[in-house]
Amino acid sequence: MEVCVLASGSSGNSIYVAGGGVALLVDAGLSARELTARLNQAGLDPTGLRAVLCTHDHSDHFKGLEVFSRRYPVRLFANEGTAAGIEQSFPGRAFDWEIFETASCFYIGGLRVEPFTVSHDASDPVGFLFDDGISRLCVVTDLGQESAVVCDKLERCQCVILESNHDPDMLMASDRAWSLKSRIAGRSGHLSNSAAAEMMSRAAGHELHTLLLAHLSEQCNTRALALNTMRTAMSQAGRTDVRIEVLSQNEVSSRFIF
Ligand SMILES: [Zn+2]
Ligand SMILES: [Zn+2]
Repeated sequence: MEVCVLASGSSGNSIYVAGGGVALLVDAGLSARELTARLNQAGLDPTGLRAVLCTHDHSDHFKGLEVFSRRYPVRLFANEGTAAGIEQSFPGRAFDWEIFETASCFYIGGLRVEPFTVSHDASDPVGFLFDDGISRLCVVTDLGQESAVVCDKLERCQCVILESNHDPDMLMASDRAWSLKSRIAGRSGHLSNSAAAEMMSRAAGHELHTLLLAHLSEQCNTRALALNTMRTAMSQAGRTDVRIEVLSQNEVSSRFIF
């Protein structure tokens, strides 16, 4: 399997995943032009994409979807709630959705996709576990709290992309409205560095080798804080063997092949 994160953060999200003979995007939260540019920059061919899978109906995850899906012949996958939520943002545009059920597996080519529910304030938000028969990747961003379901998915993977959104002290000290602070920190908001680290250090399976920290807040976090919090928790759990990297809003990640 191969994964390359085109962008990660509250200004736009998209992840390239290839395995089982197909290549796809998880979310299309940048303009179609920017998605194309970043794919090219990574040496990836946009015309080779077969699908876009949508995690949830927040615009930082779908704002390029309409144009991108007209420009490239991709199949569009979402659950019913997310599809309906996204359509509201594009009045008059009928998407040709392939609707999946949260918690029911399906295949795109030889790639098995397992969507699972996460706690977040969107219509029906999901994370994804991908399995190409050789290795497994978990993508889980935009969640306010852990759950047994999320931990179970993390445990099975060699590579995990996990939200490490904010530092609670920086969030509380920021000049954001109280309502927004409590939304972000709440159970349907975003995972703090310490919550992500605490969960991951417990849920990491013995096959885990790569951990990518995603959806960092630009105002209420730093790359060093997110990395150090996770590194500390993972080494306390005896997992100094795991490669840990922080993803960026503005830069394309490395291409990870496993
Ligand atoms: Zn988001
Ligand atoms: Zn969201």
